[in-house]
Amino acid sequence: MLSCRRPSGRPFAARFFPLLPVLLLLLLLLLATAAGSVSGGSGVLYTPVDGVTPLDFRQLRAAVYDPGRQRHWLLQVYHASCGHCIAYSGAFKKLASELWPWRYTLRIGVIDVAKQRNARAMRHFGLSGVPSLLYVAPNCSWASGFSAALPRDTSELPERLLDLMEPFVPQLRPLQPGETADCDFILEEPRPGVLSRGLILEALHVRSLRWRASVDSAPAVRLSRVAADGSSAPAGSASDAASLRRLIGLKQPTRPTPTGDTAPSSPKAPRPPTRADLKSALIRALVSDVALAGPGRPRVWRAARDVARLAAPLLPAAGRLAAAMPESLPAALAGEASAAIWQHLLAESGFPEKPPDNWVACAGSRPYFRGYPCGLWQLFHSLTALRLKTGDAVAQPVAPVMRAFIVNCFSCSHCGRNFARELADLPAEPMPARQELLWLWRLHNRVNHRLAGRPSEDPQHPKVQFPPAALCPRCGDSEDAVVEFLTRWYSAAI
Ligand SMILES: Cc1cc2nc3c(=O)[nH]c(=O)nc-3n(C[C@H](O)[C@H](O)[C@H](O)COP(=O)(O)OP(=O)(O)OC[C@H]3O[C@@H](n4cnc5c(N)ncnc54)[C@H](O)[C@@H]3O)c2cc1C
Repeated sequence: MLSCRRPSGRPFAARFFPLLPVLLLLLLLLLATAAGSVSGGSGVLYTPVDGVTPLDFRQLRAAVYDPGRQRHWLLQVYHASCGHCIAYSGAFKKLASELWPWRYTLRIGVIDVAKQRNARAMRHFGLSGVPSLLYVAPNCSWASGFSAALPRDTSELPERLLDLMEPFVPQLRPLQPGETADCDFILEEPRPGVLSRGLILEALHVRSLRWRASVDSAPAVRLSRVAADGSSAPAGSASDAASLRRLIGLKQPTRPTPTGDTAPSSPKAPRPPTRADLKSALIRALVSDVALAGPGRPRVWRAARDVARLAAPLLPAAGRLAAAMPESLPAALAGEASAAIWQHLLAESGFPEKPPDNWVACAGSRPYFRGYPCGLWQLFHSLTALRLKTGDAVAQPVAPVMRAFIVNCFSCSHCGRNFARELADLPAEPMPARQELLWLWRLHNRVNHRLAGRPSEDPQHPKVQFPPAALCPRCGDSEDAVVEFLTRWYSAAI
């Protein structure tokens, strides 16, 4: 028989209750401070105020895999400039707020792999895409990484987490027919008992609760109060957590209020690319994305070398890197060694260890808007404009290089998959420079159309068909005008 002990400090709990809201707020502030010190600063998409702990890879082991710990962890690995991660953050913050009452048992951590120091998280966990959700049980070792990969659908997550935690928290197991329990209340609910099990976790330190699966399928949870002699008497029923808390005598939890986006919405006019932004995008592409994608993979190696070669006129370090990279992948680059050898190659060619993150024409109204993906589009547009000016005979085609890089290396792996689907109209043969310039312009406008109004859209930079009439009045009627405009706009910085 599973026993269900009364918490030994019950008289204390009764005295403690009136102070609970104040103490919870204090705890929230303390956690916020503690989380800040774990991460050395907040992630840009999430802060501790959202009820999550921003973590750095180097602190992960001590924070999450501490031996002898009792806590379970839900980890989200994300990339701050990936549109899908930005779009997902609203739902995840809501989930973190919902799960806040379970915080004594379950902690929620977030790791931003856009930060160079966290890039190793992808390899450590063996992930190929973001956002990724992982559950780490108390018995999971650092070497194993995680106990289960979780679905992103936040409506399914509480139930899934309860199932995963059940083997470690005996109170979560349902009472069997005939089983008696030494506890304060018994809740009866049809399986899977999400409401009952959630309240059991929430009350773990102040009330002793157990649950059993009800025989009928009535949605309401029936409550019985258990007397000292083990007898039980009906104590009401309710279909929502707030009413059940009132019946049990639990305080309503003080939840974190997810941080919203209060970005000003007045749109700004597009700006032509700056050389600094193009260089930042190129450096981030090679230093950060290629390291994340794994330079030891032949496709990644080739894509990185071709981008470096094509962009050499923009950055001498890229030319030196391309020259130092043999056509095929050296045997030494296989496996874990590849990251270190790649870093060495970059440093030898004159790349900084950490890519710059100050954007000029690509600056967003919030740190998680625009930046790198904007710079990457501008880089490839600029390379098509440069090719048109230089002449087809001399300059290499851009489209195959861009395709290989976005599909194999771009850290926004969802974007890469979407991009691969957009490539249906890419001719097998290399295009002449003018056709290539127009091909990329049309493709980018299709992407703008698809993403307009999505949460990743910066309200100050709405996704419109480019160029707007205010920038090029004739572009709506004439392809020649588009070519002339794009060549001028994208030649400014390269
Ligand atoms: C290849 C690729 C695929 C992507 N796929 C996705 C995706 O599937 N989902 C997602 O959420 N995000 C995706 N992104 C990110 C997204 O497209 C934007 O880059 C990001 O949201 C930032 O938007 P932005 O406002 O800076 O404008 P961006 O779209 O990044 O454009 C940058 C600048 O280019 C200019 N520009 C705009 N349109 C054109 C055009 N047609 N021709 C020439 N110049 C133009 C404008 O000056 C604009 O400010 C992708 C990025 C890239 C590089």
